[in-house]
Amino acid sequence: MASTMGHKEPSFRESVDLMFNRAVALMDLPPGLEEKIRVCNSTYTVRFGVRLRGQIHTFTGYRSVHSEHMEPVKGGIRYATAVNQDEVEALAALMTYKCALVEAPFGGSKGGLCIDPREWDQHELEQITRRFAYELIKRDLIAPAQNVPAPDMGTGEREMAWMADQFARMNTTDINARACVTGKPLNAGGISGRVEATGRGVQYALREFFRDKRDVDKAGMSGTLDGKRVIVQGLGNVGFHAAKFLQEEDGCIITGIIERDGALYSDDGLNVQAVRDWIVKHGGVSGYPDARHTAEGSAVLEHECDILVPAALEGVINISNADRIKAPLIIEAANGPVTAGADDILREKGTVIIPDMYANAGGVTVSYFEWVKNLSHIRFGRMQRRQEESRHELIVNELERLAESLGSTWSLTPSFKERYLRGAGELELVRSGLDDTMRIAYQEMRNVWHGRDDVSDLRTAAYLVSIGKVAASYQAKGL
Ligand code: NAD
Repeated sequence: MASTMGHKEPSFRESVDLMFNRAVALMDLPPGLEEKIRVCNSTYTVRFGVRLRGQIHTFTGYRSVHSEHMEPVKGGIRYATAVNQDEVEALAALMTYKCALVEAPFGGSKGGLCIDPREWDQHELEQITRRFAYELIKRDLIAPAQNVPAPDMGTGEREMAWMADQFARMNTTDINARACVTGKPLNAGGISGRVEATGRGVQYALREFFRDKRDVDKAGMSGTLDGKRVIVQGLGNVGFHAAKFLQEEDGCIITGIIERDGALYSDDGLNVQAVRDWIVKHGGVSGYPDARHTAEGSAVLEHECDILVPAALEGVINISNADRIKAPLIIEAANGPVTAGADDILREKGTVIIPDMYANAGGVTVSYFEWVKNLSHIRFGRMQRRQEESRHELIVNELERLAESLGSTWSLTPSFKERYLRGAGELELVRSGLDDTMRIAYQEMRNVWHGRDDVSDLRTAAYLVSIGKVAASYQAKGL
C-alpha cells in the first residue's frame, strides 16, 4: 500500500472491490448475493522447478477463478516479475465483470507467472511454459469446458501455442483440445484478427464515444476523433494496435509514447509503426531519432492532450499524480491503470474515464469467437462467402442488363462493384462481431450514465450493467 499526504492507496484488488462496492450500493440485490458475486472463488498457487542452465530454477505461478456462474471461466495468463496473488485475483474479478458486460458467456479467471520473459531464451521459455501448463492442466485449470486462458502482458501467440500443444499431448482423444486456450497463431487453431483485437476494441470504443455529442460534451470536448492529440503508455500488443489504428484510420495525432525506458514526445506527432520497429530492434524507445526523449516517462502522463491511453500496467494513475493529469478523456486500455483513489480525484475534476472492463474487452470478445471456431471446427465464412458473392453478382448483372435494355449509359462505379461483390471472410466477420459487441455494450453503459441521477461516471455505469447480468444469472440458476 502506497501512502501520499496521509491518503492511503488501496491495493489493486482493494481498488476493484471499492469500485464494485460503490456500484452495488446503488443496487437492490438480495442479501448475500452481493458478497457471493464480489468474492474470488479460489486461487491455486503452484511452485515448480525446471532444470535450466545446469541447475534447477523454481518458479511461482497462479491461476485464480473469480466466478463460475458461467463455465468455462476465461482470462489471460501474464508473465511479469511483479505477478502476485492480489493482482491475479483483481484481474480475475475484472474478467467476470468484463465478460458479463460484453456478453461473452464465461466466468472470470486470470493467471500469472513470476518471471521476466526477457531473461530467458525461446527454448527455455518453452520448457517453463509447458511445465506451468502441465501443472494447470492436471487440475483442470486449463480445459476447453472449464478454464480457457489467453495472452496477457508478457505472453502472446507463441506461449498459447505451447499450452495448446501441451494440453493435446495430455488429452490425446479430446476432439476439442484446441479450444483449451485462445490467442493461438492462425496455423495452430487461432482466428484472424485476434492479435489486434484488444487495440481494435479500444478504437471502436472511442468511435462510439464520439458518436454521441452528450458524451463528448461531458468531457468538455468537441468534434470527432479526427485531429485529437493522444498520449499512449505501453507500446505492446494493446497500445501499439490502438495507437496505430487511431493514427492511420481516425486521424489522431500521437503526441506521446511512454515505455519502460522513458518517453518520446512530439507536438507534430510520432509515427507509431516507426517507433514500434525501433523498440523491436533496440529494446526501447531511447535513441529514436524523430522525437524528444525524456527518461522521466511517467511525467508525460501529465502532458496536455485530448485522450490519454494507459496501455501498460495497473496503478500508474494514482493519488500521487491524479490531480496533475490534464487529459479530459482517459481510456483504460490496460487493466486497472487508475486506482480507486485517483478515480475519486478525476471524477471530481470532471475527467471522463472509459473503464477497463469495457475498454479492453475486445480481446476476450474475439477470444470468444476463437473458442466457438475451435468447437465448431470450421473457419467463419467458409460456407457462406462464395454463395453471398454469387447472389450479389446476380443483382449486379441484372441491374446492368436492365440499364442496357433501357439504352442507358448508367453503370455502377468499379470500386462500388468490387466492394459489393466481395463476400465476407473470417477477418471481416470478426471485425463486424467485435464492432457490434463494443457498440452494444457502450450503449448499455451510456443509457445508465445518462439515465440515472445517482450515476455520474461510466465506470459505475459499467459495474451496474455487468453486476446486474451476473446477479440475474445466479438468480436464474437458483444458486
Ligand atoms: P505487452 O506485454 O504486449 O505490452 C506491454 C507494454 O508495456 C510493453 O511494450 C512494455 O515494454 C510496456 N511497459 C512495461 N512496463 C512499463 C512501464 N513501467 N512504463 C511504460 N511502459 C511499460 O502487454 P499487453 O498484452 O499489451 O497488455 C497491456 C495491458 O493490457 C495489461 O494491463 C493487460 O492486462 C491488458 N490487456 C491485454 C489484453 C490482450 O489481449 N493482450 C486484453 C485485455 C487487457
